[in-house]
Amino acid sequence: MIAQTRSVVLIRGDGIGPEVSDAVVTILLRAGAPLRFEEATVGREAEKAEGDPLPGRVLESIRRHGVALKGPVATPIGKGFASVNVRLRQALNLYANLRPVRNIPEVPSRFESVDLVVIRENTEDLYAGLEHTVVPGVVESLKIITESASTRIARYAFDYARRCGRRRVTAVHKANIMKLSDGLFLDCFRRVAESYPEIEADDRIVDAACMRLVMTPEQFDVLLLENLYGDIVSDLAAGLVGGLGLVPGANLGAEAAIFEAVHGTAPDIAGQDRANPTALLLSSILMLRHLELSDVADRVEAALHATLAAGIRTPDIGGSSGTQSFAKAIVARLA
Ligand code: NAD
Repeated sequence: MIAQTRSVVLIRGDGIGPEVSDAVVTILLRAGAPLRFEEATVGREAEKAEGDPLPGRVLESIRRHGVALKGPVATPIGKGFASVNVRLRQALNLYANLRPVRNIPEVPSRFESVDLVVIRENTEDLYAGLEHTVVPGVVESLKIITESASTRIARYAFDYARRCGRRRVTAVHKANIMKLSDGLFLDCFRRVAESYPEIEADDRIVDAACMRLVMTPEQFDVLLLENLYGDIVSDLAAGLVGGLGLVPGANLGAEAAIFEAVHGTAPDIAGQDRANPTALLLSSILMLRHLELSDVADRVEAALHATLAAGIRTPDIGGSSGTQSFAKAIVARLA
């Protein structure tokens, strides 16, 4: 049966974004994925051209097609426009950020047997962007934690664990200090856990969890975190398996899904054909499975593993291949 062609919004992004996006789109199309990409521009270029780094038209297009594949978008530090990445998640209510972190057997790394999933609440916490100057020299950032968002993400985590045969969900928090906000997040987690008796539920304080993660990461299964801790712990977890070039992600909600790697625009290597497209390729494989195109997903995944097994790697994981030649090598191995 010939699959119906699906439209996907493509945001190539900034820095290494266009390089890794082009590599991934080439691989998917050469694999015969029945996809049509509709390109959208956000960030600095959109701000220059249209006065808004996230034009309403782009949101409309993602709502209409339901799925986007996205490269990283730069956010000015300490000034300038608010993060387009955060705005996209909030505007489209993509409340669950899913980041599977596992060893790729063909890539040597400090640990073997890491197979954990970071689930990060994506809509509130300090990312609500509510900051103000109280008096000159004193600023306040508001950390928003709600019962509804905390319950919704805890349910997502336990449903995910149940669906994917995971044995345990660990909530990571700082409820010893932030007794109200993190306390509420933890209470919601514990309440939701009662409805999933077959899945173990435990919790750890974020600092101790970080220490455990870098010593014995294989002990962890599904991690559930608020927005900020989730952001930090995702990068830490990426380091356990070989770095940001390898870890995919998905932002999921009821009306849309955006698939993007954990990494940013990597300005230090942008435009040098050195970026590893694996993280975005693995994100696109999550997207193919989301679109129920698992045959193509399996074939792309097998070609990626065959390429890495042949010792063809980008510099971040000890190889000397460029982004484009790595992508070509994957295409050559598509069955
Ligand atoms: P970064 O993730 O861009 O880079 C951190 C380090 O990892 C760099 O040394 C970089 O070279 C390396 N790296 C990252 N991805 C790689 C890849 N695919 N292949 C090889 N090496 C890779 O983090 P940063 O430098 O802190 O952030 C740069 C910009 O990216 C900032 O403007 C930030 O706001 C933005 N950012 C965007 C997103 C997103 O779009 N979702 C996520 C994180 C950061």
